[in-house]
Amino acid sequence: MRLMILGPQGVGKGTQAALLCGQLKVPHISTGDLFRNHVAAKTPLGQRAYQYMSAGELVPDEVTNAMVDERLAAPDAATGYLLDGFPRTPDQAHWLTDTLRQGQELQAVVVLEAPEQELVDRLLLRGRDDDTPEVIRRRLDIYRSTTAPLLDYYADLVVPIDGAGTVDDVHRRIAAALTDRSAPGVPA
Ligand code: ADP
Repeated sequence: MRLMILGPQGVGKGTQAALLCGQLKVPHISTGDLFRNHVAAKTPLGQRAYQYMSAGELVPDEVTNAMVDERLAAPDAATGYLLDGFPRTPDQAHWLTDTLRQGQELQAVVVLEAPEQELVDRLLLRGRDDDTPEVIRRRLDIYRSTTAPLLDYYADLVVPIDGAGTVDDVHRRIAAALTDRSAPGVPA
């Protein structure tokens, strides 16, 4: 299954993505994780991405798209994957549509939602290097202005999920919603 998970920072996207990938046996393709691996390994791509990441800005599309292109070409992505953190802009979404060949299109976009104050609280608890209040605000601004419009772009594929409650609650909601969607006889 080819899926994407979308939602603001702090909504529990990474946690839910990992659970879902375990259940569906598909690789978890997180652009944030890919970038952090490049930064840790001090690759040229990592050195280029770091300045953007530490400011909460988006890494330029040509860098991000090339990295995703390479990852999607790996053998483990041939039968499915869960994209997490990509696409994040309309240009990235158009690029992805052009890149995925016919018959390889995304099948569902899981959208996690939660109230903004809860997001900020959760991120401050997480305490990653780029989780300072200003950088969090900047990332949430970018989400609202640049990433949220993707909900329209992917309107036919969106599976909205309430992100409130325990990790298990949310996982069960996602699993049930995806099962409903793919159930025979139910129009997609
Ligand atoms: P968060 O969702 O908490 O912002 P991520 O791990 O998804 O964290 O991303 C961390 C950083 O990596 C982002 O702030 C951004 O700099 C960069 N990044 C991740 N995905 C993308 C993307 N699709 N396009 C551009 N930059 C990205």
